[in-house]
Amino acid sequence: MEKLSFALISAKVKIMASQDQVKQYIAYWWQLGKKVVIRNGEQKLLPKTIIVSDRYSQEFEACWQQILSPDSGDCYLEGTDETIAQLLTPEWDIILCCRCVMPIPLRTLGMPPNSCPCNDLPSWPNSELPHPRSPVDTTAHLSSIRHRLLRQYAPEIPPNSDAQPVHLEPPIPFSLPRCQSNHG
Ligand SMILES: [Zn+2]
Repeated sequence: MEKLSFALISAKVKIMASQDQVKQYIAYWWQLGKKVVIRNGEQKLLPKTIIVSDRYSQEFEACWQQILSPDSGDCYLEGTDETIAQLLTPEWDIILCCRCVMPIPLRTLGMPPNSCPCNDLPSWPNSELPHPRSPVDTTAHLSSIRHRLLRQYAPEIPPNSDAQPVHLEPPIPFSLPRCQSNHG
């Protein structure tokens, strides 16, 4: 079942990364302690708090605005070559890494990037750690956890039961297409 829903989601074709997706990409990597380098390497940004209840923290928003500001020059996530300004152009898209299910940039034309930013994080992926997430509406999030538990323990939920469909805010960005290069 899990595999099938993945395949269906991957089939969605997107044209370019939206600013929200790039912001989400940074938010996820910040949650793993990766920094964003700005001003030609003079400064590194890593907000202490990324998410407060169901929204991004003020500190996060301030850092994000700093990244978008022309004064900051080239900004990029540590361990990656593409600048955040590049990611906001139609040449780039955001997909999920094959290895660790984190958002990674993908060139819409030409060759994919050599590696995922997870490459230099020896402790990642780690199923013991909470996976980074997006700000979510707590009710929907709890309902999605409840539904996943229900599916795990009672996979044969009749279609008319009060269980919610699976699409409620999962903790990882399943709305993104997934890297295809590692399949099989
Ligand atoms: Zn990865």
